[in-house]
Amino acid sequence: MTEATKTIRQPAEGLIPFDNSYARLPQQFFARADPTPVSEPWLMKFNRPLAEELGLDVDALEREGAAIFSGNRVPQGAEPLGMAYAGHQFGQFVPLLGDGRAILLGEVIDRNGKRRDIQLKGAGRTPYSRRGDGRAALGPVLREYIVSEAMHGLGIPATRALAAVLTGDPVYREKVLPGAVFTRVAASHIRVGTFQFLAARGDSDGLRTLADYVIDRHYPDAKDDERPYLALLQAVIERQAALIARWLCVGFIHGVMNTDNCAVSGETIDFGPCAFLDAYDPAKVFSSIDQGGRYAYASQPAIGQWNMTRLAETLLPLIDPDPSEAVSLANDAIAGYGPKFQQHWLSGMTAKIGLAGQEDGDLDLVQGLLALMRDQQADFTLTFRRLSDLAGDDAAEEAFMASFRDPEAILPWLVEWQARLSRETMTAVDRSEAMRRVNPAFIPRNHRIEQAIRAAEDEADLSLFEALLTVLSKPYEDQPGFAAYAEPPAPSEEVLRTFCGT
Ligand code: AMP
Ligand code: MG
Repeated sequence: MTEATKTIRQPAEGLIPFDNSYARLPQQFFARADPTPVSEPWLMKFNRPLAEELGLDVDALEREGAAIFSGNRVPQGAEPLGMAYAGHQFGQFVPLLGDGRAILLGEVIDRNGKRRDIQLKGAGRTPYSRRGDGRAALGPVLREYIVSEAMHGLGIPATRALAAVLTGDPVYREKVLPGAVFTRVAASHIRVGTFQFLAARGDSDGLRTLADYVIDRHYPDAKDDERPYLALLQAVIERQAALIARWLCVGFIHGVMNTDNCAVSGETIDFGPCAFLDAYDPAKVFSSIDQGGRYAYASQPAIGQWNMTRLAETLLPLIDPDPSEAVSLANDAIAGYGPKFQQHWLSGMTAKIGLAGQEDGDLDLVQGLLALMRDQQADFTLTFRRLSDLAGDDAAEEAFMASFRDPEAILPWLVEWQARLSRETMTAVDRSEAMRRVNPAFIPRNHRIEQAIRAAEDEADLSLFEALLTVLSKPYEDQPGFAAYAEPPAPSEEVLRTFCGT
């Protein structure tokens, strides 16, 4: 028996001030599960600013992080459990999934008074593991770490990365890989699939309890509504529409938008095979398991609505005792998704081209640019960043045009754009600044993530991982020392496929 096995459940006093509400919910909502110890935990990364935001004992945690964030020591106050959920996976309903490789340690109230989950991912088997090993490999842990923090830097709601630990144990996938544990922080880990789990069991009391819990935790305003559960549905739809619009505005592809990977809080979650666009291609798919292209870049808004419809189905009995009235109310809520998404997307995209107001014709102007970008294989991120430069400085025109295969092809669009800008009141300098605040210079490019993973896996070198985190913490600022990180991949560096952590 290893040393680690003996030390499990030794209390680590007061390091994390837990206050666990989920563990107080009815017992069918979860299964208690302790982390399984690992051989030789090593704390690769600890997110001190996030730990401070959470009100944790930062110094002590940094010292004892290897034991705690590997699951070898369960800190005092934790009530480790796996959450139960169902889900539609690529359209197929699975009535029981649950946390098979994740263990919720508990919740804390952060410095802003917000309740946050702390979860270990890859900390061993749970009653929901089925044939899985409950473990995570180093690569997917680093990917999730990088992308979580990049999303945060971009200002997009997402789960956060608190720590990453190397376990010292191998995990067996297509090949043998180093094992790791990822500590994730979320507004909550409640998914559309959590509602589906209770609905599929015909557990109407449980469903109401969950809905009330979600209202209390995420949507307290719904409580005062005449129809609280309809208001809940509307509020989740609003956040989902806003979230997916934000994804599209930075070229993000989640990769596996199953209903079990859709958080009702409105945070981006479980983005295993996620990737950002380099060249703009609305049909782009990276995930190796998404063979039909169900979760392609431009399909995400429609999938968001599909997922919201699955949520609505579970809420019908709570919305109204009369089934036809419930369906009619839910349908109206679902129908609201499209216009809400369109509004968020259009205001995001018009801001990206430097418009403060909106006019008829702006949609055509945005779509005109996107069509050219697609035809000319222009890099999504660079095009908008260089357009931001051009807005403040005519001399930047050449650099902007160089994003397009045939630079001349963009000239008619530039003429239209200038004409539209002439009807705006903002000065060129202010406009350029405003555009630079919505058009990042840096995104977590796939080839950079891949390079960081390769260096970590093959050479135990975390310097590229660290450099990426540094750059991505300020994605809207030019960082001259890191200019290469703004560049798209050379053809030989291009990543064509991404993989889940499983
Ligand atoms: P994901 O692809 O991460 O969204 O996971 C889908 C489902 O498979 C969830 O129920 C996971 O908990 C489960 N799962 C994924 N990988 C593993 C693993 N290595 N061991 C146990 N369960 C897993
Ligand atoms: Mg998942």
